[in-house]
Amino acid sequence: MGQGERQMLEKNVNFVEAALKEYYFNNFELIHVSSRTSEREFGYQKFNSGMVRHITIKNDKDLHFLLMTQMPSDVYCSNGYYSFPNLPMSEKDWKEADLIFDIDAKDLKLACRKDHTCFKCNSCQNVNEQSSKCVKCNSDKFDVISVNCQNCINEAKKEVKKLVQVLTEDLAINEEKILVYFSGNEGFHIHVINSEYQSLDSRERADLADYIMFNGVIPETMGISRQNNSKTSLPDIGERGWRGRVAREIFGSKSKRPKIIQEILLGGYSNFQSRLEEMRQKIGVRIDPKVTMDIHRIFRLGGSINSKSGLSKISCNNLESFDPFSDACVLGDEKVEILANCPISFILKNKKYGPYVSETISVPKHAAVYMICKGLADVPQDSEN
Ligand SMILES: [Zn+2]
Ligand SMILES: [Zn+2]
Repeated sequence: MGQGERQMLEKNVNFVEAALKEYYFNNFELIHVSSRTSEREFGYQKFNSGMVRHITIKNDKDLHFLLMTQMPSDVYCSNGYYSFPNLPMSEKDWKEADLIFDIDAKDLKLACRKDHTCFKCNSCQNVNEQSSKCVKCNSDKFDVISVNCQNCINEAKKEVKKLVQVLTEDLAINEEKILVYFSGNEGFHIHVINSEYQSLDSRERADLADYIMFNGVIPETMGISRQNNSKTSLPDIGERGWRGRVAREIFGSKSKRPKIIQEILLGGYSNFQSRLEEMRQKIGVRIDPKVTMDIHRIFRLGGSINSKSGLSKISCNNLESFDPFSDACVLGDEKVEILANCPISFILKNKKYGPYVSETISVPKHAAVYMICKGLADVPQDSEN
């Protein structure tokens, strides 16, 4: 959450704030408070500034007023419901909380990441392609900057599908209660509203996250023990839950089953254990457990702009066809000049940008905001907004 240590130059702040304000002003119909508004805690952040939280917002009109007057960089709303949402945490009187999940492409450790990651020197602000030493000043302190790539989004979508499957099949959550959003940067946020899991405390949510990630699986769960395995009860491909998923991974089809069982029994306990561990990393759902176990989180508000990218946290009605590079790219199209220092390339609205080596370019406002928010461009000196 937030901008971390990185401070944004004032001319950049002015430009991005104006672009966000313009978008919100023209699209009030897309920006709504969450349901059960009066029980929620809201929060917001301004560029180069800390979090303001423990506030209440009554309705859409209040939210729109806040967007116009405070010009926040980011807006958040609690997953929790409280009797007194604007009091300090200990006095809020927590009632229950939506289940929330964060799937971030950064956590998937994909091979493509190095192709769209660069390193901004903390001392001289030069943007380097590698992170050993700054080519300009020899410093070795960097901010890691990454842009979106199609492969990352596709892989993150696969995790979303796996998550939705576990939620609906294993936890019997009605699909209508599962809201999938693009996070506005490099992943997806999943909100489960009004489910039977609303009252789970933080520990129970940690257990639930472990289940969803398929953590801590042991051979015994799959019917393999250290001792006598003559009466093994390996899972069947038709079984529900993780046993069924493991069976489908191991056996593929029914006909191969007897032969594969023989192999597993011959291979022994520790072989099966390591095979299970490999499988866990493949079929477990890669969510961020810290987000799911947090019952007091203020989570990015759907419909708001993510200041890490200038893209919108937008609802994905059809995950398959959803294209964040177009669908979430909602800021203006008019051309503006920026000074770009961007050694990696990216795509927005079907147009490829970069690489740029310290050059002044004219690009649509949405691309300018994207690069400025990422720290890969500045507003030129003489055209302050
Ligand atoms: Zn440097
Ligand atoms: Zn990628």
